[in-house]
Amino acid sequence: MPKSRSRRPVRKPAVWRIVHDERVAGRALKTEAVVLRSMRYGEADRILHLYTSDRGRVSAIAKGVRRARSRFGGRLEPFFRLQMELHEGRGELLTVTGAHTVDGHPRLRGDARALDAAARACDAVGRLFETSEPHPGVFNLLCRKLSLLEAQSGAVGRSPTGHAPALAFRLKLMLAAGLAPQLGACASCGEREHLGGFSGAAGGVVCGACEGGAFPFGGAAYRFMTDALGRPLSEAPGAPETALAQVERAISETLEHHAHLRLMPAVGRAG
Ligand SMILES: [Zn+2]
Repeated sequence: MPKSRSRRPVRKPAVWRIVHDERVAGRALKTEAVVLRSMRYGEADRILHLYTSDRGRVSAIAKGVRRARSRFGGRLEPFFRLQMELHEGRGELLTVTGAHTVDGHPRLRGDARALDAAARACDAVGRLFETSEPHPGVFNLLCRKLSLLEAQSGAVGRSPTGHAPALAFRLKLMLAAGLAPQLGACASCGEREHLGGFSGAAGGVVCGACEGGAFPFGGAAYRFMTDALGRPLSEAPGAPETALAQVERAISETLEHHAHLRLMPAVGRAG
């Protein structure tokens, strides 16, 4: 309210009433979301873990969704991208009041490896970004990953479900979380030459003099990391499996030291 009006009667009661009503009636939240997990709850309900574009990770209850005539149909399943209407009450758990499919990724559901890759991608997002702080870039990255898995499901040839694309996705998540490994110089002393090791504790590559606690990190692993961080997800690089194993170890140790986090292996045994 402009200051020139400050001599008029203060209209506090009206303001108070609005605030009060909001708290009683709750608030509506419209946002896009990807279903990360969907768990049965009670007789007919489901609890959903959602990654939303506007509110980061939230949990919501969908009431009566498991009844045959539920208006939500089969939409509230993992990997669905939805336009959602959520009701926010006093507790942390939101209530689903509306859901419209943006992309159900139907082909992905018929491909066991793509499903497994999607589950690991969703799990990594849910663990790395577990608060309601919004990260629209992470939401877009997850949607991109699911679209790539969908587009290439069942296809022969270079697989989006393999180790390299899974690690490229994790690296991009780490970048978004501010946890990208330091690659330009020794993470301990700043030396730019002889960077033959990786230290999760130091948070990046290390030189020969700082190798204590580090493990060998080869040129192919180094190139994979820099390329994966610098390219779009759809152009993720490949690398020999020995290099990818080093990259995965580097990711795991960095996350353990700096986020106290353990992710599932990037790919399943069949991946
Ligand atoms: Zn050093």
